Amino acid sequence: MVLATEGHCDWEDMTTETFEKLGVPFHRFNQDELSLRFPQFDMTGVKYGLYEPEAGMIMAHRSVISAVNLFRKLGGKVARGCVQTDASEQVYLDGKLITNDLIIISTGSWMGEMFPRTIGPLSNVIGLNVLYTSTPEGTTQFDHDFMPCWIDHGHGSFGMPSVEGHGIKAMTVIPDSIDLDNDERLIRQDTLHKTRRYIETRLPGLVGQKVVDSKFNQITMTPDTHFIIDWHPEHKNILFAGGCSGHLFKHGPVFGDFVAGVGLREYGSEARFRLGKRTKPSPKDSPSGR
Ligand SMILES: Cc1cc2nc3c(=O)[nH]c(=O)nc-3n(C[C@H](O)[C@H](O)[C@H](O)COP(=O)(O)OP(=O)(O)OC[C@H]3O[C@@H](n4cnc5c(N)ncnc54)[C@H](O)[C@@H]3O)c2cc1C
Repeated sequence: MVLATEGHCDWEDMTTETFEKLGVPFHRFNQDELSLRFPQFDMTGVKYGLYEPEAGMIMAHRSVISAVNLFRKLGGKVARGCVQTDASEQVYLDGKLITNDLIIISTGSWMGEMFPRTIGPLSNVIGLNVLYTSTPEGTTQFDHDFMPCWIDHGHGSFGMPSVEGHGIKAMTVIPDSIDLDNDERLIRQDTLHKTRRYIETRLPGLVGQKVVDSKFNQITMTPDTHFIIDWHPEHKNILFAGGCSGHLFKHGPVFGDFVAGVGLREYGSEARFRLGKRTKPSPKDSPSGR
């Protein structure tokens, strides 16, 4: 569910147009309708909401394990190792230059430090603090059967209902610095207060509930929040695949399919995914609203 806050609706208006263009089923509810349907939320300040009845959530950990198993079953080989680069951005495994016809680099947030000349300027890595809050005893209204995932750009927030008794994931995006290789993944204390304030405003039924889990992780932000899918300008066997704004996972199957076609040179990449200068778009033109 997308909540469009009064005065902050450009991306949400564009999303409506995109849903219509692509035939994505959705309901547009005004504030009163939203409050009736989803009483878990205090909809103060919300102009309208877009509710997708067919939307769901993806269990990311399970998906990755399933994808690896499927890849093996289809004859793929999986090996774990740390790929390194030299000053000319050639890639090495166990000290040996990799000379395969096609090398797809999809090392997420690490891509910028591996390719400081080519990817570094396009890749800003930020840390995100995620808190999971308990739900009141005896209530089911915060479970995924009764509550959708939501995004609330007006408050820089998003969240997920409680799944498998895990508590509500309500998160306020407070971009934080992160040292990918040296930081412990422990949340920062001040995010607790900011998330609590958001919960008081939007989910008053959770006031007094406690944090039951927390995660501190990294996302990659490209300046325009578009993906990076392009060949290395000097090494014609290296294809980059990653980038964006912390939204790559759900695009995974389509993204992977498209990257495979580029890798096999069946077609080229899209202009918006290429290397080169990028600028921050207006919220209306931003693919992510960030
Ligand atoms: C708090 C949070 C919430 C998010 N919510 C969503 C969401 O709701 N929806 C969504 O679609 N996305 C979401 N994301 C973003 C999503 O997790 C990322 O977009 C996605 O994981 C990026 O995938 P990737 O394969 O490019 O990179 P990663 O998942 O980061 O994978 C990169 C892999 O490369 C490996 N690697 C790094 N360096 C090397 C090396 N030198 N050699 C070998 N391997 C290496 C790493 O160990 C890692 O396994 C969220 C992210 C965060 C942090």
